[in-house]
Amino acid sequence: MEYVHNGGDTCIDCRYIELHDIYRYMGYCEVKYELMMVYRTTCNHFSPIDRGELWETLETGGWLYCIDCGEVIFFTDELKLHLDHRVRNKLFSDIIATEESPAAD
Ligand SMILES: [Zn+2]
Repeated sequence: MEYVHNGGDTCIDCRYIELHDIYRYMGYCEVKYELMMVYRTTCNHFSPIDRGELWETLETGGWLYCIDCGEVIFFTDELKLHLDHRVRNKLFSDIIATEESPAAD
């Protein structure tokens, strides 16, 4: 598995990708309705995430996820530590029995 930080327009940096919550090299594309290999693919719908949006997203959504650190971010102080990282607010899960999930610790 490759985690290439090439700064290119790959799906991992696109706002339309909901990253898979287990297989984080995959993501569900909201435009194409397809699972993408996010580190390898790019497409003409690509739209980069605006870093400035992250603050608002954290306030309204309550959490963000740093891909690079594998950490969930709840507070703006935490977000400051991850600004140079790949931070997302969307995770996609194809696990059906979500009601069976153990409570977050
Ligand atoms: Zn981070």
